[in-house]
Amino acid sequence: MKKAIITGISGQDGYFLSKLLYEKGYEIHGVIRRNSSMSVGNMALLPEKVRESITIHYGDLTDANFFAKLLKDERPDELYHLAAQSFVGYSFQNPSSTYDVNISGTLNVVNAIKDYSPATRMYFAASSEMYGQPETVPQNENTPFKPRSPYAISKLAGFWTTKTYRDAYGLFMSNGISFNHESEVRGPEFVTRKISQAVGRIATGSREPLKLGNLDARKDWGYAQDYVEGMRMMLQHEKPDDFVFGTGELHTVREFATEAFSVAGMRIHWEGKGVDEKGVDEQGNVVVTVDAGLFRPLEADNFLADYSKAKKVLGWKPRTKFKELIKIMVENDMKGKKG
Ligand code: NAP
Repeated sequence: MKKAIITGISGQDGYFLSKLLYEKGYEIHGVIRRNSSMSVGNMALLPEKVRESITIHYGDLTDANFFAKLLKDERPDELYHLAAQSFVGYSFQNPSSTYDVNISGTLNVVNAIKDYSPATRMYFAASSEMYGQPETVPQNENTPFKPRSPYAISKLAGFWTTKTYRDAYGLFMSNGISFNHESEVRGPEFVTRKISQAVGRIATGSREPLKLGNLDARKDWGYAQDYVEGMRMMLQHEKPDDFVFGTGELHTVREFATEAFSVAGMRIHWEGKGVDEKGVDEQGNVVVTVDAGLFRPLEADNFLADYSKAKKVLGWKPRTKFKELIKIMVENDMKGKKG
């Protein structure tokens, strides 16, 4: 039986990866940082048999001693390093803590592997945000990185740390450069979940409009469940390497919102321009407004994945289409709300 450690098991990807590794017969260990309510995040939503099979280790990414002991004690076959301060907007407000968790934290993980469990294969969760404002579209593993947020800088540092430890010490350490992936357990601060939750609320009677930032922001959005399959495939591959995961489709925030309302049976249209633009339903009610305060200080746009290497080498491809993803999310957020 293979043993895997997942950092960030309480997050979105940790939820889907736990389910996948359970189905594949792994012994799963998860790292969770303690909080006063002892909440285990999305782990609480896992099927009971999966949840109960997981061994939890309480620890923080910024604690080097914790990771040294964990790797010394467990010597896992695989380690999926998913834990991070993952929200770009927050990284502008709190760059130092983002760097502490995402850069120093990643250094703690790779050092613990190097010193105590060099046979462990590691996946690092890198990000399309590292491309910043790319000059070429679509982006692949050879596209230059031009990060435009503290989050993106921290992920690029993690990416290069992973690559450097692989080359310098002959360790099996791989980077997954994932484009945006969403789901019914996505954090509520992310725009897709903000939309699906608001649609669930508005479609069942709430009159409070959904507030969005840049409606023209375009993203390559996929379903998280598909991406965790790619992560595992990378660690089964014969050699460590870096791979892009995405859908190869671009959609605006406006398109996402329009489709989300349509899943709930509401047809909306758009009136006005810029910060005065509004989404209006068939009865003339304003259901979406623009809030300039939600714009990023520096936009990063045009992330479009060229995942041909992952397709050719690993046999990976995204299975869930844009409209299916939105349907999954909105239907989940409408559950239990219909009167
Ligand atoms: P997520 O839902 O925000 O999960 C992040 C996880 O990291 C949570 O379990 C969180 O724990 C944990 N964490 C944060 N700070 C920690 C600390 N100091 N010590 C220990 N654990 C800590 O993120 P996700 O969407 O699953 O993404 C997984 C990884 O992929 C992240 O590294 C993210 O940056 C990267 N990524 C995601 C996407 C995407 O579109 N989802 C795209 C590219 C890359 P708490 O529950 O305690 O907060």
